[in-house]
Amino acid sequence: MQRYSFATLAWQGLRKNLHWGPAWREPRLKASYDAVVIGAGGHGLATAYYLAKEYGVTNVAVLEKGWLGGGNTGRNTTVVRSDYMFPESAALYDLALRLYEGAARDLNFNIMLSQRGYMTLIHSQHQEESVQHKVNWLKCNGVDGEFISLDEVKRMVPLLNVGEHSRNPVRGAFIQRRGGTIRHDAVAWGFARGASDRGVDIIQNCEVLGFEKTNNRITAIKTSKGRIACGVVGMAVAGHSTVIAGLAGFRLPVTSHCLQAMVSEPIRPVLAHMVLSPATGVYINQTQKGELVMGSVLDLYHSYGQRGTFCTIEKTITSVVEMFPAFAQTRLMRHWAGIVDIVPDSSPILGPTPIDNLHINCGWGTGGFKAIPAGGMMLAHSLATGKPHALAQKFGLDRFRSNRLVDEGAAAGIAH
Ligand SMILES: Cc1cc2nc3c(=O)[nH]c(=O)nc-3n(C[C@H](O)[C@H](O)[C@H](O)COP(=O)(O)OP(=O)(O)OC[C@H]3O[C@@H](n4cnc5c(N)ncnc54)[C@H](O)[C@@H]3O)c2cc1C
Repeated sequence: MQRYSFATLAWQGLRKNLHWGPAWREPRLKASYDAVVIGAGGHGLATAYYLAKEYGVTNVAVLEKGWLGGGNTGRNTTVVRSDYMFPESAALYDLALRLYEGAARDLNFNIMLSQRGYMTLIHSQHQEESVQHKVNWLKCNGVDGEFISLDEVKRMVPLLNVGEHSRNPVRGAFIQRRGGTIRHDAVAWGFARGASDRGVDIIQNCEVLGFEKTNNRITAIKTSKGRIACGVVGMAVAGHSTVIAGLAGFRLPVTSHCLQAMVSEPIRPVLAHMVLSPATGVYINQTQKGELVMGSVLDLYHSYGQRGTFCTIEKTITSVVEMFPAFAQTRLMRHWAGIVDIVPDSSPILGPTPIDNLHINCGWGTGGFKAIPAGGMMLAHSLATGKPHALAQKFGLDRFRSNRLVDEGAAAGIAH
């Protein structure tokens, strides 16, 4: 596969950019694979990439019912951070952030990582005490994060309405300076290109419809493009996890909900950081193109709808204008939704399942984009070795039987 570099860019430019090759292959489905990964979102593609790169397993297919990156990976608000509370979560999410920090070089693909700082506003004394507590936790976990004063918030986000007459007066903020944003499509495309380059077959428009099983093992997968014999199977299908688990014959403690986001028309650069207000559940950042990206609460009813709704648009916009009155005249350009996989303790489910050769990666809910490289690495390890990765031990499905939950509800950022 062609390496991307300044020299390639200049050479292709001289040839009028007419000779770029495809970024990944469009292979024909084979009759059999050593490993099959269901779902070509970020987690599925990263799984295939690390299976090939770290474990040398290259006879791999990634099956996608739509187009690669067309699920939540291409629909999220691109925020990355690792300010989780429990040591096991911090280890996982910080591994993901560190892998993202090196991903452009590793994948030879510009994922447009922008570590512009992730800021959570503080509106009350109680929240301020919680943030001090959180900063201490993060220190113990070796993760960066700090409290900043109201003056610092005003300096960093001059358009923010912090006055004592605002509905939610601001007292300061928590900031993780290594947090920020990454271009979401680039993550899917970078991992797809890297996996394809190492021999992985990415099969789009190929829906998994059922399984053939013998002695509690999956021997073949029925798809819309035919039957595939397989050695091991990984599933990374986010909001469709219960559907695939149902086809395999077991249940998951996961519910599917719609999560919405929206962008404004592009305006000149006015917001340098990512800002979240816990009082309203609304968060906002500005893309390199100038659009304001906005997200807010989860739709609290179960749904497989990938559509926005006017009540959420109204709630989000009202809160954004309260926070930033200067944006009142800005027009909304697009809104959309994804189907997220919500788990009772807001932590992922990683590792083996009740089916001997089926391994799982799901339950990231509203915050799995930031975890893609680590989630992929965990599932790749599980598929290659048959055992959960050391960092995934606490995130097994069995925790819902033993009641050893890892409750990260407070770190999820979005009200569940
Ligand atoms: C609006 C919104 C905003 C978000 N904002 C953030 C954020 O700012 N930061 C953050 O960290 N996270 C965020 N998230 C969450 C994040 O997007 C997800 O947790 C993450 O993308 C999940 O990745 P995935 O690869 O597991 O799933 P997906 O990207 O959804 O991929 C799963 C794939 O499986 C495929 N599939 C399903 N069923 C089948 C089948 N039967 N056969 C074959 N393929 C199948 C789907 O088509 C899909 O492409 C947000 C989510 C949404 C919806």
